[in-house]
Amino acid sequence: MSTIKDRLMLVLEQIRAAEQAAGRPSGSVRLCAVSKFHATEAVRQAMDAGQLLFGESRVQEARQKFESVQGAELHIIGQLQRNKVRDAVRIASCVQSVDRLPLLEEIERQCERFGRRTDILFEVHTGEDTKAGYTDMGALRQSVEALCAGQFPHITPRGFMTMAPLTGDERAIRRAFASVRELSERYRAEFPRLPLTELSMGMSGDFRLAIAEGSTMVRIGTAIFGERDYGG
Ligand SMILES: *Cc1c(COP(=O)(O)O)cnc(C)c1O
Repeated sequence: MSTIKDRLMLVLEQIRAAEQAAGRPSGSVRLCAVSKFHATEAVRQAMDAGQLLFGESRVQEARQKFESVQGAELHIIGQLQRNKVRDAVRIASCVQSVDRLPLLEEIERQCERFGRRTDILFEVHTGEDTKAGYTDMGALRQSVEALCAGQFPHITPRGFMTMAPLTGDERAIRRAFASVRELSERYRAEFPRLPLTELSMGMSGDFRLAIAEGSTMVRIGTAIFGERDYGG
């Protein structure tokens, strides 16, 4: 049986190969290892193998798992409720799943209260399978404009995130990734003062397509940690 370290090394090789195939510089895509539903021990094994950046969907699970772990960087990648923001900004360096203006307001409030800064990504809805992400492009624009206007001084917007549709149709997946890359290019041109360089796209099943479409960060769980046991 392969170990977490073996699988992590394989995924990193596959990322480097996909960068090369896309004609992109080696190292232009970062790996966020998604450890949701896996134990602290799995995180430690990945860290022993050199992985320091992790993604978790649920704040409470992440808090319990990472409280005894030193030196890991954590991103929140799941839908975030308002009453979880306080804990989220204390444990995570980035909330990748910002999908509404009131969430930004709450992140700002909690960051100010605890003297923190937080990076965020705007999650853009592309798949039909989840409700996650901005669906209304007018609402997205309003959020970006609010940040540009300096309304949220404790928040740094780093770019965009998406989850492609869960389908076997590669063309549909690529179209979803391409649409977010194009959106990001438009926003970067329009808001050059915002550091919107990050494109978090690609999971275990579709990260090669995401890298071909310009992803700068892939979020990979299953290919590293194995299937998730949702209990029951
Ligand atoms: C669970 C999850 C992932 C990882 O998915 P895998 O298919 O296990 O690689 C990536 N992004 C988000 C937002 C997730 O919720």
